[in-house]
Amino acid sequence: MRNVYVVDSGFFIEGINVNISDVYTTSHVEKEIKSYIARIRIESLKSQGLKIVEIDDKDIDNIKKRLNCKNLSDTDISLIALCFKLREKGYNPVLITNDYSLQNIAKILGFEVLGIGSKRIRKVYFPIKYCKNCKIYYSDDEKFCKNCNSKLIIKYI
Ligand SMILES: [Zn+2]
Repeated sequence: MRNVYVVDSGFFIEGINVNISDVYTTSHVEKEIKSYIARIRIESLKSQGLKIVEIDDKDIDNIKKRLNCKNLSDTDISLIALCFKLREKGYNPVLITNDYSLQNIAKILGFEVLGIGSKRIRKVYFPIKYCKNCKIYYSDDEKFCKNCNSKLIIKYI
């Protein structure tokens, strides 16, 4: 499978200079980019083939339900949705982000992750509530699975 790269706003804000082609991001990320320098970077990368994909609210809601993860923004989830879309098309999406929560979720979902800049991926594990039957993760305040009602276990990810 061919590697393609999915990048978050940090990629443009920090001006990461990596020699990769097949770079994708979402319109959610593009809308978040406010700084002038980062906007120039995004425009110049667009002319070099950066692809900006629109993600439906429906897709974002589906993933939100599945993950039940409150510490991810819609923009974070749009990147996960984009990874799924690219995988469906037969690519191997590599998510480039420094956001620790996003890295973790992407890894759980089986995507490759690359930390960029100075903040490399740390090998730290944190506990998260999990249903063994349904393979769904829950936030800390849940005790039982909303799907099958079984008691949630604590899993370290
Ligand atoms: Zn369950």
